[in-house]
Order: sequence, then structure tokens, then C-alpha cells
Amino acid sequence: MADGPPIRLLARLDPENRFFWQGGADGRLRFLRCPSCRRFVHPPVPRCPYCLADGLAPEVVSGRGTLHSFTVNHQQWIPGSEPYVVALVEIAEQADIRLTTNLVGTDPADVWIGMELEVLFEHVEDEWLPLFRPVSTSPQDTPAPLGSPRSGGGAR
Ligand SMILES: [Zn+2]
Repeated sequence: MADGPPIRLLARLDPENRFFWQGGADGRLRFLRCPSCRRFVHPPVPRCPYCLADGLAPEVVSGRGTLHSFTVNHQQWIPGSEPYVVALVEIAEQADIRLTTNLVGTDPADVWIGMELEVLFEHVEDEWLPLFRPVSTSPQDTPAPLGSPRSGGGAR
């Protein structure tokens, strides 16, 4: 299993990108969306690069995407660390919005371009880093979302 690099770099937060790096606190991925042409925009900018409208606001997306490209990295200077996958993920809503991220929960040998992915977040300090994992094809091996215990309880 590859679970990403042993050390993750955090983004430098500013008023424009804070929604992106902290929005994952509720487990949902967000991008700025233009109120005029309705395109998603990433990385965050004050003005829509397509139609020049302003007033862009964060909007929740499905968290689904496909693998556009990837590399397998070997961290040779940190003893015992596993190879990990650096991925370029195309979000389901708009093909030209691509995130550079890590794939987790899969062996690097099982990774292929075009595979279906879903977001999950890793909470580090005051940021929720969006990572991706393969979408499970059969419902019975769908893992519970991170940080949310299975509901539906019952008698103990
Ligand atoms: Zn626009």
C-alpha cells in the first residue's frame, strides 16, 4: 500500500486559498466557481480567467475524478519509506481543473491512467489536504469516510 510521502508540505494560507485548504474539514472538496460563465477556476484567483467576471465563490464538487497522469516516487533519503504516487487528477466536473496530489490506499503497481478516484482528506495542523484513492467498485468494500464513525449504531 502506498500512503503518500512521509512528509507532506503544507500550503501557505491566504484569504483567497483558505477555503480550499480548510474546506475539507467537512469532508467535501471545493473550487471557486464563476457566477457568470459557471466555470470552475483553480488555483484561486480574484477574477475569472475565462470571462473576467469577479465575485467568484467556493462551491462544493462531487470529489470524484480520474487519473490524468502520475509518477511513482521513491524517497531514497528516508530509510524505510515506501514508494508513493504523485498524481495529476482531473475533477469530474470540469476536465481542465487538475489537482497535483497523492494517491493513497493502493499499490503503485495497480495504478493506471484513467482510473476513477475519489477524494479524502488528511488533516495536518490547520489544513485538510485533498488526497485521492481508487473508487471501490463493490459497495461492500467501500471504506467509511475518514473521521466519521459509521452511523446507525444499535445496541452495544
Ligand atoms: Zn467566468
